[in-house]
Amino acid sequence: MGNYFQTIVDLDAVHADTRTLAASGLDWLVREGIVRAELTDCVLGAPSGHPPGPSWAKAVDQEDWVPSDGLRIETSRTVFDCGQGEPSFAVCPHCAGRVDFYTDRMEEIEGAWEPFGEAINVWSDTGSAAVACPYCRRSGDLTAWTWSDDYFAFGYLGFQFWDWPAFSAGFLEGLSRALGGHRVVLMGGKL
Ligand SMILES: [Zn+2]
Repeated sequence: MGNYFQTIVDLDAVHADTRTLAASGLDWLVREGIVRAELTDCVLGAPSGHPPGPSWAKAVDQEDWVPSDGLRIETSRTVFDCGQGEPSFAVCPHCAGRVDFYTDRMEEIEGAWEPFGEAINVWSDTGSAAVACPYCRRSGDLTAWTWSDDYFAFGYLGFQFWDWPAFSAGFLEGLSRALGGHRVVLMGGKL
C-alpha cells in the first residue's frame, strides 16, 4: 500500500491565528470521534500524532480499510505538495495562460520552471512572492496560480492524515466549518 497521505490545507489561515485554528480543528475532530486527543507514535516523519478515533469511518467515503496511522497538524508556513512527482504546468490567475514545464515528449522546457522555483523559495522565506506571466506579462501572486493536479497549496495550517481511506466531501465541509468557514483544499499523495 505504501504510505498514502491526505492533507487538508486551510487556504485562509494567516500566520497569527494558526495555533487557535489548529486547536479548533482538533477539538472538532476529537469531539466527532474521528481522532483521539492523545499523541502516539503514529505518523511518518514526525515524533507523534493523533491516532484514529472510534468514529473514524464518519470521515471517509468508503471503509476500504481501517486506518492504522494518525493525524499530524502542520502549523507553520508550508509549501504543501502531493509527494511524488511534480507539476507539469501552471496556469496564470489573470489570463489563464498555461505555462508548460515539459514538452509532449516529456522533455524539460528550458527556463520554464525557474521563475516558479525561485518564487516558491521566496514564499517559503517571506510568505509573499509573485511570478510574471510570460503571456500577459502581469505579475500573479504565487498562491493564485493553479497547478496541474492541484499539485501545490501554500498555507500555514494543514491537517495531514496518514494511510486513511479517501475522505468524503461532507467531512471536508465539517472541518471547514470548524475552521470558521475557511476554504480548504484536499491534497493526496504517496511517499
Ligand atoms: Zn497571464
